Amino acid sequence: MDVLQKAFELISKYPLCDHCLGRQFALLGYSMENNVRGSAIKIILTMQANDLAKEKNVEGVNQLKVLATNGFSREAQETLKHLKNRLPKTPDPKCYLCEGKFELVDSLTEKSLAVVQGYEYTTFLVGIEVPVQVEEREDEFKSVFNTGYGESIKHEFGRLFGKALAKRSGKEAEYLTPDLVVVINPFEEKLHLQVNPLFVAGRYRKLVRTIPQSKWFCSSCRGRGCEKCGGTGKMYPESVEELTSGPLLEATLGEKTAFHAAGREDIDARMLGTGRPFVLEVSRPVKRFVDLKAIEAKINAEAVGKVEVSHLRFTTRDVVRHLKKGEGSQKEYRLLAEFENELSDVALQTIENQFSGASVKQQTPLRVLHRRADLIRERYIYKVKVRKVSPKRALMEIHCQGGLYVKELVSGDEGRTIPNVSDLLGNKAKTLKLDVLKVIMD
Ligand SMILES: [Zn+2]
Ligand SMILES: [Zn+2]
Repeated sequence: MDVLQKAFELISKYPLCDHCLGRQFALLGYSMENNVRGSAIKIILTMQANDLAKEKNVEGVNQLKVLATNGFSREAQETLKHLKNRLPKTPDPKCYLCEGKFELVDSLTEKSLAVVQGYEYTTFLVGIEVPVQVEEREDEFKSVFNTGYGESIKHEFGRLFGKALAKRSGKEAEYLTPDLVVVINPFEEKLHLQVNPLFVAGRYRKLVRTIPQSKWFCSSCRGRGCEKCGGTGKMYPESVEELTSGPLLEATLGEKTAFHAAGREDIDARMLGTGRPFVLEVSRPVKRFVDLKAIEAKINAEAVGKVEVSHLRFTTRDVVRHLKKGEGSQKEYRLLAEFENELSDVALQTIENQFSGASVKQQTPLRVLHRRADLIRERYIYKVKVRKVSPKRALMEIHCQGGLYVKELVSGDEGRTIPNVSDLLGNKAKTLKLDVLKVIMD
């Protein structure tokens, strides 16, 4: 392809600014912007035309006129004047493809800086929106004049704004997980800011048997507030979610938080040991460079005796996905079981022998059937230790695969958990107290 000839063919048909002409050859030559490509082409074409026009060649003069009008070339305009030719009249021409919007890159960059002002961030991404008719026009243009070396107008705008914003803000453009996304529509001269969430991971211990993990809406009013819930909209005044998220929300000035955890304990079970992994997701945080040690201390001071957090650290959305899947997790429980009849030493030994290294088939427990699908799951038990604490009571320590419902392992849940402690001993058992001692993620 003769680049000059092709380029001249394009601007003979349509007015094209340096950016839009150069963009049709974007893949040719490295380390230069499209406007430099476009300008270089126009200058060479002007020199060629000047050479011809000196001999009063009509083609040469025409070429200068096209460059001076459709090419917006100041050099061609000056050359025409110098050759004593009249400048052709043009009724306020605009670039056919960009409508002159590349001239707004600097001013819209300043506007973008104003929009992100006040937000703490390390990385950003620029998103470009263009009206449908602009994209259609470019597609049509390409279908007629395809050079095979072009890039899209969106792509060019994105790169230019990205570079300009990086330079002005001193921050880094990042594609996968930017803190902020500035969406710019250069044609409507509009922009808006998308603030991506902040993720903070940690572990919590729950020291009491009266607090649910997450905020639990009132079953009568579903959160609106009624007589039954005293206008709070909640079944319980506090939750692990609320106790941990308050100080974080305060420090980040976010809109709201979402609580993600690796499984959940029952409301009446404590969560002890090293705690359960969780992630707090803060929507639209203004501050990101927060002192997690100080937030941890504040949470622990406010929730003292109820909930304790540790190991707070910044994390990513991927970790939330991993937590929620809970694959490969293991749990250690301690529970106090009460039996209908007295326990023999042989019975204790039988429990340890039969359940250590056993697989349990468990149909979704009756008590959670209203919110979980009715399925049979198979879960592995690594080890069970039993100690009698009174004639009818025993403490059991169970180390098992995550997802096993241990209360049902004891009761049998009307035959829905097989095998189970009650059937094995022929002695009906129930759980009086339950603690989670350990949550192990792989
Ligand atoms: Zn243009
Ligand atoms: Zn209510």
